[in-house]
Amino acid sequence: MGSDQLADQFQADKFQFVAQAQAERQQQQRSRSLHPLQPSPDLPLQRHDAVHVWRAGQRLLSFSSNDYLGLSKHPALIAAAQDYTGRYGTSATASRLVVGTFDIHDQLEQQLAAACGQEAALLFSSGFQANSTILPALLDRQSLVLCDRLVHNSLLQGILASRARFIRYGHNDLDHLHRLLQKQREKGYSRILIVTETVFSMDGDRTDLDQLIPLANQYNAILYLDDAHALGVLGKNGMGLAAHRPGVDLVVGTFGKAFGAFGAFVACSQAVREHLINTCPGFIYTTALPPGVVGAIAAALALIPTLTAERQTLAHHAELLRTQLQALGYDSGASSTHIIPVMVGAEAAALQLSQTLEAEGILAAAIRPPTVAAGTSRLRLALSSQHRRDHLDCLIRAIGERAIGERATGERSHVSGG
Ligand SMILES: *Cc1c(COP(=O)(O)O)cnc(C)c1O
Repeated sequence: MGSDQLADQFQADKFQFVAQAQAERQQQQRSRSLHPLQPSPDLPLQRHDAVHVWRAGQRLLSFSSNDYLGLSKHPALIAAAQDYTGRYGTSATASRLVVGTFDIHDQLEQQLAAACGQEAALLFSSGFQANSTILPALLDRQSLVLCDRLVHNSLLQGILASRARFIRYGHNDLDHLHRLLQKQREKGYSRILIVTETVFSMDGDRTDLDQLIPLANQYNAILYLDDAHALGVLGKNGMGLAAHRPGVDLVVGTFGKAFGAFGAFVACSQAVREHLINTCPGFIYTTALPPGVVGAIAAALALIPTLTAERQTLAHHAELLRTQLQALGYDSGASSTHIIPVMVGAEAAALQLSQTLEAEGILAAAIRPPTVAAGTSRLRLALSSQHRRDHLDCLIRAIGERAIGERATGERSHVSGG
């Protein structure tokens, strides 16, 4: 065998594991792929339409984005992004601790802290980066983390990286959390940290903060809340459920959802902020948020308190949609927000429902394992304040036809609770 042949064989073998894993995923219908969207052919964006998307020449009504207030296409955000870019350039050019801190980063952090009722705030490049790197900076191997079973993967990554002991409590089961706190308190941990989301990303249900905050306080546990899906939509001035709640130690918010931008922040005490600036690798070893993004965030932060009517529409539409789904025999779990799961159960059935809707011009992504537990595959509907009543009617009609069709053929596997 010549050396070229040897090299070929070696290269073929090197990624055998990749080919094998992909073949297995395909066999289980779990292979995921990317489906790019195109810009609307009726630009400019000034039309401010944030609920329709274009894919392969087809216009789709989307119920899958996290653009809950439609701000990603808002003229004020676009103008601010352009203005900041014009004044500061396209890049922050360095990490925050080198020469990447501009006055606009500083101002934004102060505004965020005030809006959340915390002493201080610190910007991060993304929610994933914040959660996965802040938690290890707060924990050591002698710490205990108690987290909700359904927390976002970024929180889990942070917990695992910290090497602290961790126990997951039943989803939103604060009695379980209480029992764990009682059982664990005498065990000599360096500290106990409780981690959960205020609104759960795949279920749209909420944590009972009125019960959780005193509980954390009673056991002197650090309370870390991820407010990603409440920010902009719920709470005082739309600043989330964890804002202005004494007893909440750290709040992480993201800008890629209702803020219509990109990035994240943590709001906390001045002392914790300083600790993170000095110890958190996800803050230290990365380029600061670019000026254009900071501009969009600042514009969103100024707008959000004024969007009370939009938030009311969102809540009203969510209620309406849940009622109509129920009337069709669908289970929307414990959702009490603008995120509404349509429980299907089987992976293939969820995928098929999503595909049927797409053929009718509606984008409603199927969420399957490993994102959610096996047997709980679903459509995840996320409403925007820009959805109108006729958009909802269109969605309900399409889901309804599908449900009726399946009943006629005797196949009801997708209707859970039945
Ligand atoms: C989206 C999300 C994140 C990640 O935020 P990004 O800024 O998109 O990285 C973190 N936590 C929760 C609960 C989320 O839903």
